[in-house]
Amino acid sequence: MSEPTPLRRLRVAVEAPQHSGLTGPLDYLGPQDLTPGTLVHVTLGRRDVMGLVWDDLAEGQALTDDEPLPESELRPVGEALDALPPLSDRWRRLVEFAAGYYQRSIGELALAVLPPQLRELDAKQLQARLKKLDKADAEAAKAAAETPAVVPERPALTAQQQQALDAVLALADSATPQPALLWGLTGSGKTEIYLRAAEAALERGQQVLVLVPEINLTPQLEARFAERFAGHAIVSLHSALTPAQRLRHWLAAHLGRAQLVLGTRLAVFASMPRLGLIVVDEEHDPSYKQQDGARYSARDLAVYRGHLEKVPVVLGSATPSLESWQHALGGRYRRIDLTERIGGGALPRVRLFDMNRLERKKGVTTTLSVPLLDALRKRLDRGEQSLVFLNRRGYAPVLHCDQCNWKSDCPHCSAHQVFHKEDRTLRCHHCGVSTRVPRACPSCGNPDIAPLGRGTERLEEQLAQALPGARVARIDADTTKLKGSLESQLAAVHEGDVDILVGTQMVAKGHDFRRITLVAAVNPDGALFSSDFRAPERLFSLLMQAGGRAGRDAAQAAASEMWVQTWYPEHALYQSLQKHDYEAFAGSQLHERMTANLPPFAHLALVRAEGRTVEAARDFLVAAQEAAQALPLSLGLLLYPPVPMAVARVADSERFQMLIEAGSRAQLQRFLRAWLPELHALKRRQKGLTRWAVDVDPLAI
Ligand code: ADP
Ligand code: ZN
Ligand code: ZN
Repeated sequence: MSEPTPLRRLRVAVEAPQHSGLTGPLDYLGPQDLTPGTLVHVTLGRRDVMGLVWDDLAEGQALTDDEPLPESELRPVGEALDALPPLSDRWRRLVEFAAGYYQRSIGELALAVLPPQLRELDAKQLQARLKKLDKADAEAAKAAAETPAVVPERPALTAQQQQALDAVLALADSATPQPALLWGLTGSGKTEIYLRAAEAALERGQQVLVLVPEINLTPQLEARFAERFAGHAIVSLHSALTPAQRLRHWLAAHLGRAQLVLGTRLAVFASMPRLGLIVVDEEHDPSYKQQDGARYSARDLAVYRGHLEKVPVVLGSATPSLESWQHALGGRYRRIDLTERIGGGALPRVRLFDMNRLERKKGVTTTLSVPLLDALRKRLDRGEQSLVFLNRRGYAPVLHCDQCNWKSDCPHCSAHQVFHKEDRTLRCHHCGVSTRVPRACPSCGNPDIAPLGRGTERLEEQLAQALPGARVARIDADTTKLKGSLESQLAAVHEGDVDILVGTQMVAKGHDFRRITLVAAVNPDGALFSSDFRAPERLFSLLMQAGGRAGRDAAQAAASEMWVQTWYPEHALYQSLQKHDYEAFAGSQLHERMTANLPPFAHLALVRAEGRTVEAARDFLVAAQEAAQALPLSLGLLLYPPVPMAVARVADSERFQMLIEAGSRAQLQRFLRAWLPELHALKRRQKGLTRWAVDVDPLAI
């Protein structure tokens, strides 16, 4: 009989929801040789959960003031999944940082960013998976060896691209590479720089991580990587994969077999033992920010990860976020510019169409102006394509009775139900509730209820009526619900089966439409006066991006145009847009932000609360504010009073928010660390409060 091995105290990160107030890893007993980064089954309460062996506490370091439990009271860990190489020290530092920064527990974050299937396996099942993967990899290697290697075609770089590439490659020579901001117009050849930089990293035997905002909106980027790196192991990581695929891809990255990982924000946490380069494409895109759970910014974490792993990070954009732009101005990021479009294609001429010139009459805001229709007709006659952009889906944002003033309000939200003509429903875009369109006004019986305003569905209809014979197609969240439908609709545009494409921001992003020579934004003014200080920044980048869809074919570029229908043609935003002058726009925005003490010159955190009643949500935040004021660390911070959110009620839940503004990140972090435990305690006392969350560096205010 062998001696039982002595057990020792281990710290294990488990998925304890943040709101239980557990923030650090928990103590268990386990074998001496269990290394940090190993997955183990443990008991939490009465449940068997997956845990991750964390690091030993350094001497004298304690996370809480509580006395540690004596060893006699600790539970032993269960089965370890030690067939899997441990998650590295650097990976754990990344998770630790993210958990601390975004105010979540380490265990919650660590387990949330692992593939869900991994959490459900026992040691034997994992071994089976690994074996299957080995076999598949061996087969793939054999097949690859038998097929002759295709040497991919690579365009010769332009002089400017060469300079940019040299600058990117030089980053890797530094022991602590500076993050780079690759600023280049759409079509200036940024992707080619990513490809070449990736190639260099692969030659060094390293792995490359490429982050994209939304994988289905960037099929071309994925295709270009696949084409250039044919014969290399490329995997994707995003939430549309099946659980089995996600596990397989994640394992390929973790085992160091995948050379390239292409993914959305969650991929920033991919375990990659030989990481050598991180690319963040369209770094300004809001979808890099996670909107629930740990509300992390994958872009910001990518920069932190680059710093941790001492590898270059390339942030690419035509319209960088003002945060990144300010870092470049201040010298923290290395700015690399691409100022010319490949092939010398000009950017479209921007025409600001002044809506005030139109005769004022009822409903004029919903008009497609005659000159715009003429311009569309001209393209049609020449066999060219146009893109008409409107960031609002559905037929009309509201139905209205002009006898009694009834409006199609959502019964569960402080918002209108949107009229969708195609399936004759009224749908709330906030809570999702859907009802049949009434035949007559539900309030007074008037049969003449009319749609007010216009969404993409109506725009499509109006265009088809105004331009008989034109093949009008629409792409938005409603037309692309079915798997594969976006791809087929995009293919139709590429093949020339569409004359006029109507769409929301989905079509403004990413796609390389060769034949589009006219882009029109029919009603973009709303964002100029939004209460969200980032709305102009988003509008500018969306319009620049939409405009970038036109004239990508150099031969047609000279004749390509972008039309903006606006009531405010003199607005500084449109004036900069007309000159394609991001720098001027960024300059004026940064000036405004500095004056108003907004990011990137201040640091924000937002606490949101939802309750069954207004009082429950508000009282929680009022109490939270009092608790904050009692903390010495709140000195010098600005604590704004709780206010209802822009859409105050969603799905019968009342929503309030409270903003905290700090002069420095560190100050905000210190304050949050002290304050959050009080919020957990308050939550337990506040009746009727359903949810609350803290959002550090919130994107939408
Ligand atoms: P961006 O990513 O900045 O929008 P891309 O890298 O997609 O720009 O380049 C725009 C187009 O020009 C693509 O079709 C690409 O294949 C092509 N391209 C890029 N670099 C070159 C080059 N040096 N020579 C010829 N074509 C190029
Ligand atoms: Zn009525
Ligand atoms: Zn609703």
